[in-house]
Amino acid sequence: MIEEYRGVWVFIEQNDGEIEGVSLELLGAGRKLADKLEVALAGVLLGDNVKSLCPEVIAYGADEVYVVDHPVMKDYRTESYMKGIMLLAEKYKPEIFLYGATPNGKDLASAVATDLSTGLTADTTMLDVDLEKRLLEASRPAFGGNIMATILCKKHRPQMATVRPKVMKALERDMNRTGKIIEEEIDLKEEDMRTKVLKIVKDITKKASLADAHVVVAGGKGMGDLQGFQLIHELADTIGASVGGTRDVVEAGWLPHELQVGQTGETITPKIYFAIGISGAIQHVVGMKNSEFIIAINKDPNAPIFDVATYGIVGDAMEIVPKLIEQFKVL
Ligand code: FAD
Repeated sequence: MIEEYRGVWVFIEQNDGEIEGVSLELLGAGRKLADKLEVALAGVLLGDNVKSLCPEVIAYGADEVYVVDHPVMKDYRTESYMKGIMLLAEKYKPEIFLYGATPNGKDLASAVATDLSTGLTADTTMLDVDLEKRLLEASRPAFGGNIMATILCKKHRPQMATVRPKVMKALERDMNRTGKIIEEEIDLKEEDMRTKVLKIVKDITKKASLADAHVVVAGGKGMGDLQGFQLIHELADTIGASVGGTRDVVEAGWLPHELQVGQTGETITPKIYFAIGISGAIQHVVGMKNSEFIIAINKDPNAPIFDVATYGIVGDAMEIVPKLIEQFKVL
């Protein structure tokens, strides 16, 4: 009976006791859905010694936090986390269950959806709800990014989705918010686990710096060639920004793939995004359209990038960028 299922849940991903940014963003998105549906918003926290994180989950918008705390869940493993989630989901029956589209979030959500015999919309970029039918509307680019598809899970519960990092907004942290903490005991034994975490190697590539950068200077094929693209690096160095680019630039070998912005690259929300010599194809725009200020430079006044730009400069990047560098150096 799908009517038995109530409440919006967010899987709170934590690594070494630090909550992932996407989980806080999902609490912000989940809050809106829960308010519309007039139900509680819950965070689901799994791990070893993670109870101390509950106030933080409440401060970012949760009414309740379900906690399963066990030494066997110290490091993420599909097997142990699945057991924790299944225990909670079967007992409390959430209506909507959201996960960050991180490697662990994707892994866990797909395994949970299979065991709960429900559907899962992967890599969602927009969330809403049809109040009358109490249906989650999870939207994502489809058919090579040419359309946005809204996917509904009509007959099964919970309605599940993984959501891309940086597309939703976290609420302001408010330590005066109050909420309920619900602890569940779990029976787990290390010797029953079929996998073992041997070593965790931290990712120290440039990817993190692009995702977290406040200012990004991104270049496209309009920079002409690898040499022309050096102007993008020069401008970024001058103003202390990170460099990004389009897929065409990555395919041309001017930038490594981890600096690609867009549907098949990173989704980012810096304060300032320079889009230079970038046409503004939808597959690129989905990765940067939520930036606070978008400054586009393109010689084609009809380039689609101007539709999402806060400020636009129509002209030749080869002339404009050196002038910008000169001006910023004076400042
Ligand atoms: P172009 O589209 O060639 O645009 C170059 C622009 O530069 C033009 O607007 C031109 O007017 C301008 N220009 C030329 N010379 C100058 C000059 N001297 N001064 C100023 N402006 C100039 N793309 C991504 O970026 N990210 C993705 O993640 C991504 N994923 C994709 C996934 C799929 C399944 C598919 C099918 C495509 C994907 N793409 C992605 C590719 C995308 O469709 C576009 O092809 C790509 O974004 C275009 O890159 P661009 O803007 O650098 O090049």
